[in-house]
Amino acid sequence: MDAAERAAALGAYALEASGCERCGLAATRTRVVYGSGPSAARLMLVGESPGFHEDREGTPFAGRPRELLERLLAGIGMGLDEVYLATVLKCRVPASREPLPEEWGACEPYLYRQLELVRPVVVATLGSFATTLLSGRALGITRAHGQEVEVTLGGRRVLLYPLFHPAAALYTPTMLEVLERDVARLPALLGGDERAPLESAPVAVAPDVRRTPQPVQLGLF
Ligand code: SF4
Repeated sequence: MDAAERAAALGAYALEASGCERCGLAATRTRVVYGSGPSAARLMLVGESPGFHEDREGTPFAGRPRELLERLLAGIGMGLDEVYLATVLKCRVPASREPLPEEWGACEPYLYRQLELVRPVVVATLGSFATTLLSGRALGITRAHGQEVEVTLGGRRVLLYPLFHPAAALYTPTMLEVLERDVARLPALLGGDERAPLESAPVAVAPDVRRTPQPVQLGLF
């Protein structure tokens, strides 16, 4: 499938997802926030779920977290328009609680399909929830941030790179400093893009974690 075909497939899948009622979050969302960005982006950012502003605007990472992401990416010479933005859950989770296993279990096929179609080199997970889901390991983001691991996602090997969530870093200066340092390593990780060698390289950390729900350690998003 070439880039144009993958872009068309992403669009068709987004349309299909827009009416999704696979889980109870359909009843409380304003809209499905499927994801956005270039269909051949080398970097994909994956957060937990749409928040209040994302639910209304229909795009992942709205408001001040988006502004911070833009600033951090500008610092490494990248624009947000070069990055594919996604969340594990495509509908807003009520603020008073965490996502339920049946909700992310119902929703994760959308993310895996996005990973298959976009074929990023680096998947940066923002916060504990997305990191645990995509690594298949219950690691808190405080321990896992800034340490890339090679995993199989969407049928191919990618570098999973956990980062603090910008919404958390906005209010914690020490966390922001760490996030800035971790983001500064992205060019080196992306610069090693050599899709074919990466796809044929040995896997350092397991697993094709698709459809393998693990205990989720929450905390710092
Ligand atoms: S959270 Fe995902 S599975 Fe649940 S209704 Fe929204 S799009 Fe469908």
